Amino acid sequence: MNKPHRSYLDWNATAPLRPQARAALTEALALEGNPSSIHAEGRAARHLVERAREEVAALVGAQPANVFFTSGGTEANMLALTPAIETGNEKQPRGRLLISAIEHASVRAGGRFPHGATAEVPVTPQGRIDLGALAEAVAAAPRPLLSLMLANNETGVVQPVAEAAAIVHAAGGLMHVDAVQGPGRLACDIGALGADLMTVSAHKIGGPKGVGALVRASEDIHFPDPLVRGGGQERGLRAGTENVAGIAAFGAAASASRTELAAEAAQMRSLRNLLESGLKAISPATVIFGEAAERLPNTTLFAAAGMKAETAIIAFDLDGVAVSSGAACSSGKVQPSHVLAAMGVAPELTRAAVRVSLGWTTTEADIGRLLSAWRKLSAALSKGHGVAA
Ligand code: PLP
Repeated sequence: MNKPHRSYLDWNATAPLRPQARAALTEALALEGNPSSIHAEGRAARHLVERAREEVAALVGAQPANVFFTSGGTEANMLALTPAIETGNEKQPRGRLLISAIEHASVRAGGRFPHGATAEVPVTPQGRIDLGALAEAVAAAPRPLLSLMLANNETGVVQPVAEAAAIVHAAGGLMHVDAVQGPGRLACDIGALGADLMTVSAHKIGGPKGVGALVRASEDIHFPDPLVRGGGQERGLRAGTENVAGIAAFGAAASASRTELAAEAAQMRSLRNLLESGLKAISPATVIFGEAAERLPNTTLFAAAGMKAETAIIAFDLDGVAVSSGAACSSGKVQPSHVLAAMGVAPELTRAAVRVSLGWTTTEADIGRLLSAWRKLSAALSKGHGVAA
């Protein structure tokens, strides 16, 4: 992915297409059939969709029948976050949505819960959900739906999902896990995590943008109120002719991410450690957010006092390194991070935060390029110009 003079280190925003996904995409684009048609052309397209369903199911340890393709992580979150989720004979709507204070915007928007029905659970200074506060919130809101991310997109901090699920289940609640940043970096077994529902997205694991899935743990979980109604595709949960090529490529990316997980995670972790020791060696005052917590092996969110993230990102870019502030924002503007605010980070440091996220093609040379840019930035910073706010 990296061009000779560029180092792409913004993999939490999106990852490049894996070669396997590109091949699956091209193969699928050549098919003329609609997966709902019964002729041979239709059956060939259906075959690709169902093979991808198996591959995505294997990625998260689910049954293929429990995977529902969507247009991405955002839509899967929107589909999951509804008061109208039935489990077995339980048909009574859920009154309350609990979310952690560091969720992605697509969860913070509250899905289809009415305004005012969402309550936020605080996080610790290391950026993990506060389980004591969760227990109190659950006691005040029986049978809630909790939406908790597997790992935070800005800090990479891994959340205590299984512990949170136990608390929620003991109160008759349900657990949704936004696992968009997990696969390919962490084991993501829906059963082991105690999740009832899980969101995944193709473009973070080397599939195309604009395709994802909502996965349920059991066939007992039903959504009587689909988001998109029409032709009954995806067993009535998501109408519209399937994005066959996108789904096929998602399946190929899921398969590669699963089989390469151990090797890729180890490689990313060792490069990430090299990066972090280098950042601190150059500027000992560098703060790494969530450093003491378990984090994704590919993510570093760091800052130095007096630095301004927007200016630093432009300086890195000019030196051939693509990094970002904590969150990708559709307007292209750097917004203050609600994640760092929730962790109690001072506004001055929040405005300085730069996120570096690595992937399977990242090399030592990429880390070297970033560190030499950081050396220049830090020198400018210590002289009080160039990158200061
Ligand atoms: N959830 C998290 C944690 C994310 O990081 C993102 C994307 O950045 C999403 C959800 C949204 O996924 P998508 O871009 O597929 O809509």
